[in-house]
Amino acid sequence: MGRKFFVGGNWKCNGTTEEVKKIVKTLNDGQVPSQDVVEVVVSPPYVYLPLVKSILRPDFHVAAQNCWVKKGGAYTGEVSAEILVDLDIPWVIIGHSERRLILGESNEFVGDKVAYALSKGLKVIACVGETLQQREAGTTVEVVAAQTKAIADRVSDWTNVVLAYEPVWAIGTGKVATPAQAQEVHSELRKWLHENISPEVAATVRIIYGGSVNGANSKELAGQPDVDGFLVGGASLKPEFIDIIKSAE
Ligand code: PGA
Repeated sequence: MGRKFFVGGNWKCNGTTEEVKKIVKTLNDGQVPSQDVVEVVVSPPYVYLPLVKSILRPDFHVAAQNCWVKKGGAYTGEVSAEILVDLDIPWVIIGHSERRLILGESNEFVGDKVAYALSKGLKVIACVGETLQQREAGTTVEVVAAQTKAIADRVSDWTNVVLAYEPVWAIGTGKVATPAQAQEVHSELRKWLHENISPEVAATVRIIYGGSVNGANSKELAGQPDVDGFLVGGASLKPEFIDIIKSAE
């Protein structure tokens, strides 16, 4: 049915010029399946985007980790979607849980950002996911559905959206969701898209998993029918990112 596997590397707030060059060299030397099989996107901090873009192999692409919610202007410290377009940055991550929880981004704000970035021609990795308390309270599906609804209320064309399910309790903790846990939420999200948007969007939108993915657990997760790829944090800074990309096969 052709949902191309997608692997994103979220470098977060890490790196020096030397480290960035080293990571890119490892990526450039890596033997991975072709672009027909897997789409690979790496996301360095803003200031390294032009450098990474200029030295990265042409079959991999770059993403920003965030962008401003509307047209740029007098917003000190922000980077607008227009600036990303000017720099020819094709992708942006929006609504990562670190921004939702540490920087207070609401579902509505995230939805507005996704809509604005898409309207400027950017492709968006939109993140959703529940906290440990929400999971323990049994509200996981409700929480991710509300996060997805805030995006769906503002977006009509999902062609350029990848939905990342990232349970907060699994991010940076080494506590990866089991393949069954990931599959369960991914299939609920797909059902939500089917019922609330359209069967076509449900069938074609890639739903990727994030949270302590590594070279040892990626293959089994990738085998789940509704897991269409990964958003990788810590392991995307290491050579094992290549192994994660290979789990597309
Ligand atoms: P992690 O982060 O792989 O380090 O858990 C994932 C993410 O935050 O996207």
